[in-house]
Amino acid sequence: MPAGRPSHPQIDTSRAHPARVYDWLLDGKDNYPVDEAVGEKLPPQARDAARQNRRFMHRAAAWLAGQGVDQFLDIGTGVPTEPNLHQIVQAVVPAAKVVYTDNDPIVLRHAETLLISSPEGATDYFQADVRNPGEVIDHARTVLDFGRPVALSLIALLHFIPDDQEPRAIVGELLSALPPGSYLVLSHAASDRHAELAAQVTAEYTLAGIRLGFRTRPEVARFFDGLDLVEPGLVTAPEWFRQAPAPAPEDSGIYAGVARLR
Ligand code: SAH
Repeated sequence: MPAGRPSHPQIDTSRAHPARVYDWLLDGKDNYPVDEAVGEKLPPQARDAARQNRRFMHRAAAWLAGQGVDQFLDIGTGVPTEPNLHQIVQAVVPAAKVVYTDNDPIVLRHAETLLISSPEGATDYFQADVRNPGEVIDHARTVLDFGRPVALSLIALLHFIPDDQEPRAIVGELLSALPPGSYLVLSHAASDRHAELAAQVTAEYTLAGIRLGFRTRPEVARFFDGLDLVEPGLVTAPEWFRQAPAPAPEDSGIYAGVARLR
């Protein structure tokens, strides 16, 4: 645990938190009755979306490691859920370095799990808010070499950043720190697929005090402006990089894509 960080972060169990509701949706144990109460009110498709999103992360991380990417900056990591990103990439590239960050103290409490690196590689966790992108990059530079490609993953994160919090400027600042050949990995809840369900989910989170900003496909596509989307482009999470022959992809309200920086 780095100096200056509380070893017992304050967990506020009086209100629901995104990381803990997501943990509940994934059948995890690191959530509280207040989080479960939100999860219980969500349509069953929310659990499907969480599982589909997590599986997209697995495939995208393995694909990137297969491309030889060996540096990863994962923002909005969530409560550790095996396999975590470092386990996937270090299975392919044992020397890979992974920096994780999240703004929720529940993730810090489980940071040790995220810090069990392969002997050859490195993992690091620090608590920060993506709305302070400069702070995130400054810390990541202490572990990663920004003179070489880095994969930046913002997986199921940006729908927690409504437009008035300037998610595009945040993503722009993060990308501007990355050298050519880096990658952006992104998934995002859709407002234009199953619009009624999206509205219901947004309403339940809002009642619980959590702001959401689900987006349309064109709005999500704008996060990739100026980057080269890799095949199959911006698709739903189950459609991303399916090995043929594969069963028909499940229906999904999550968009996902991976793009390379020029
Ligand atoms: N990326 C993981 C977890 C997604 S849940 C996965 O896809 O499996 C969204 C995560 O984003 C939560 O852990 C939540 O705490 C985190 N988060 C939400 N707002 C954030 C912010 N402003 N800064 C950093 N992390 C944030």
